[in-house]
Amino acid sequence: MANVLAVAETRGGELRKVALEVVTAARALADSAGGEVHVLVFGPPGMAAKVEPLAQHGADTVIVCEHAAYDKADAESMAATIAARAGSGYAVILLSASAQGKDLAPRVAAKINAPLLSDALTVALSGAAVVVTHPTYTAKLVATLKATGTPVVVSVRPNAVTPVVRAKALRAETIAPATDPAASRVKVTALVVGTGAKLDLGDAPVVISGGRGLKAAENFKLVEDLADAFGNAAVGATRAVTDDGWRPHSDQIGQTGRLVSPDLYVAVGISGAIQHLAGMRTSKTIVAINKDAEAPIFKVADYGIVGDALEIVPVLTAAVREARKSH
Ligand SMILES: Cc1cc2nc3c(=O)[nH]c(=O)nc-3n(C[C@H](O)[C@H](O)[C@H](O)COP(=O)(O)OP(=O)(O)OC[C@H]3O[C@@H](n4cnc5c(N)ncnc54)[C@H](O)[C@@H]3O)c2cc1C
Repeated sequence: MANVLAVAETRGGELRKVALEVVTAARALADSAGGEVHVLVFGPPGMAAKVEPLAQHGADTVIVCEHAAYDKADAESMAATIAARAGSGYAVILLSASAQGKDLAPRVAAKINAPLLSDALTVALSGAAVVVTHPTYTAKLVATLKATGTPVVVSVRPNAVTPVVRAKALRAETIAPATDPAASRVKVTALVVGTGAKLDLGDAPVVISGGRGLKAAENFKLVEDLADAFGNAAVGATRAVTDDGWRPHSDQIGQTGRLVSPDLYVAVGISGAIQHLAGMRTSKTIVAINKDAEAPIFKVADYGIVGDALEIVPVLTAAVREARKSH
């Protein structure tokens, strides 16, 4: 029997979508080995009242650890609590490869001297081994990695797993932090969430990104209109654009920017440089609009439109609005 410990991410006392993704992945793993899913969730006082969705997505037991410090993430004390819990014989400890997870997962692995498989697209058990697929070489290859150990720490790329609802009654317990967050050497003084963005790039199921082919900062209005038409989209950009000050650096997607894996990625006026592809190549469906039929972006695109983005995007926006009206 292989039990799985999943860590459910919160921000400001609310569960994040990646939490449901991690629990879904944990459920599938545990089911394949006849084990249980225990979900550890950190949040400020009152968090325990908000954990029902974790049961609905497959948690057998939800372990709630409340402390005022968990209004903002406190990776040091969270890692200590996860490490203390890891002694209960879990086969896998599963976290998100979100910004918070990237801070947390290596700390946990180091504390308990466990192998870490990071940024997994898929995760499975094969006998005594944990097997993940992981994008490598700026996402040009997908490597299969195996690790053995009890436990193996795995972080899962945001949006790589589609949350699945299971009807499960909530069974919850509460625990105290293993170490006092007040004693952490790292002090999180503020969490600054990007302004203006309706949806976080990492969470959005649809990402519309613009490149230098848009010609001017003001033409990003066309990209924003298309994102609005979808209703569940965030706007991204290339580094060429953020370097020129057309968009904030927080919108940059790529090797030195954000990693995204949305269901749909629309690249508008983007050449498809390898450093940009590194941030979006694992998107499930890629649509490219570029006036140059030879642009490298078309090599990774599922659908390509060759033409002037300034003419095509408004037509697309109207079509998406029309399609959503009739559904
Ligand atoms: C160390 C390093 C790290 C980097 N990290 C990143 C990163 O994280 N993210 C990133 O994006 N880049 C990164 N870059 C930069 C990267 O190499 C490219 O320069 C950048 O991605 C190009 O941006 P672009 O596609 O917007 O612009 P361009 O390469 O100038 O391409 C513009 C495209 O728009 C098309 N176009 C022009 N007019 C129109 C029109 N009217 N309609 C439709 N299409 C049109 C053109 O055909 C062209 O394909 C990095 C570079 C280095 C060296």
